[in-house]
Amino acid sequence: MAVIEHWIGGRTATGSPAGTAPVHDPATGRQRHEVLLASPADAAAAVDAARAAFDGWSQTPLMRRTRVLFAFRELVNRHAVRLAELVTAEHGKVLSDALGEVHRGLEVVEFACGIPTLLKGDFSDQVSTGVDTWSFREPLGVCTGITPFNFPVMVPMWMFPVAIACGNTFVLKPSERAPSAAMLLAELWREAGLPDGVFNVLHGDRAAVDALIDAPDVAAVSFVGSTPVARYVHERASAAGKRVQALGGAKNHAVVLPDADPDYAADHLVAAAYGSAGERCMAISAAVAVGQGADRVVEAVAERARAVRVGPGTSPDSQMGPVVTREARERITGLIGTGAEQGGRIVVDGRGYVVPGHEEGFFLGPTLIDQVRRDMDVYREEVFGPVLCVVRADDVDEAIALINANPYGNGTALFTSGGEAARRFQRGVRVGMIGINVPVPVPMAFYSFGGWKESLFGDKHVHGPEGVGFYTRAKVVTARWPRPRAAVPEGAAATFDFPTNA
Ligand code: NAD
Repeated sequence: MAVIEHWIGGRTATGSPAGTAPVHDPATGRQRHEVLLASPADAAAAVDAARAAFDGWSQTPLMRRTRVLFAFRELVNRHAVRLAELVTAEHGKVLSDALGEVHRGLEVVEFACGIPTLLKGDFSDQVSTGVDTWSFREPLGVCTGITPFNFPVMVPMWMFPVAIACGNTFVLKPSERAPSAAMLLAELWREAGLPDGVFNVLHGDRAAVDALIDAPDVAAVSFVGSTPVARYVHERASAAGKRVQALGGAKNHAVVLPDADPDYAADHLVAAAYGSAGERCMAISAAVAVGQGADRVVEAVAERARAVRVGPGTSPDSQMGPVVTREARERITGLIGTGAEQGGRIVVDGRGYVVPGHEEGFFLGPTLIDQVRRDMDVYREEVFGPVLCVVRADDVDEAIALINANPYGNGTALFTSGGEAARRFQRGVRVGMIGINVPVPVPMAFYSFGGWKESLFGDKHVHGPEGVGFYTRAKVVTARWPRPRAAVPEGAAATFDFPTNA
């Protein structure tokens, strides 16, 4: 069985691993690979390689750095299908969905190709007599990214294209459940001409994460994953004095107002709830059906949920693949059970779903639970599976209050044909990303992605302008060039008083 190694200093490396973890194909249930789990010494080697590459890369002229980004963009585009196949093999999502994730990641590379413009500073002439002021931004040093299983290409690419374009070097710690795509990305960087050591991949679990956070040469930590780990990473990295952005879990609500087209809403709810088997941080997991017409919405969703084609991600016929592990399937099945016990009405039940020929795969069917209340486990917890809960509300204000009472604040959507309610909704919800008749409102690369409340710990969202801000720090220069031996210009004589603008 192939062992997936680290990528350190431009080549694969075994190091002295603390152990290995199995990597499964969720569609068959069979183990594909072993992946190394880094020891603290391995983490130190990756950070050392990145530290050694920093001086050269950060001093490389901007246009030469940009050319490497353009070459990488071409290579990712050319190898998009290969990358998507690796995602499908280890995550389980259908190939067309995996290809979509590769293209959304590619858009961040395209954004980063504009880095010469993004890094332009400001200049103010003659702010005082003979004095000019300007600002510019410098890279931080070694940056690290710790990423989840559910977007093995896109989420790392929210981070490293921007970090590297800004002149930093990078150590990626991908999910141990879907580690292969990161290795292909490393090879593509090398082919694009990125100097050895600028991009490194370290595989591992908590021990690797701790070692990266604690490494004195790591300047910044980007994390995406579940809320408890995001909170932990934020606290540990902050205590170590690191810059940190830690994106956590979600419970995204889609509100359907009585004036919405029920068929349009149902089509989009089903796609947003069950696409990628619900394993998206922007998946819709709670539908808030408002007022009269709620029963019609539930009916329309149920009809479509029953028709979802579940099967292996490699089959062009499948719309939804398996969930990632056997344990995930058990956890989700258990939560559906609590939903029924605690008073929910299971309208469509995906438990026990079997795909012929893939009996050992980690499959579940789409599940729809109506009459869900806020105190039920299936509503309170992030299910992260193909389960849609329906909650009822009397009006848009009650729906807004429900969303705001939820500890998460990643994404939300409203289905309506009315501008007044839409405006009230977008201004009223305490959520980072909002869709109006758009169920999965993932911002484009030139905006920034991030939630509020327990969906994000730290100040800066990822990619877009906030990503550039996160991976750089500003310098402001105030300069005067007096003429040699000339008379001191008026207002420029040395003074013991605090300088004012004279
Ligand atoms: P996870 O939190 O289990 O793992 C994320 C990363 O942290 C992995 O690299 C893992 O190896 C590492 N890790 C796991 N446990 C750790 C620990 N105790 N200490 C240190 N590191 C640890 O998340 P996951 O199951 O891989 O991904 C699913 C979660 O990610 C969901 O909660 C989902 O909502 C969230 N997610 C959020 C976003 C977002 O943008 N907010 C995007 C994608 C996924």
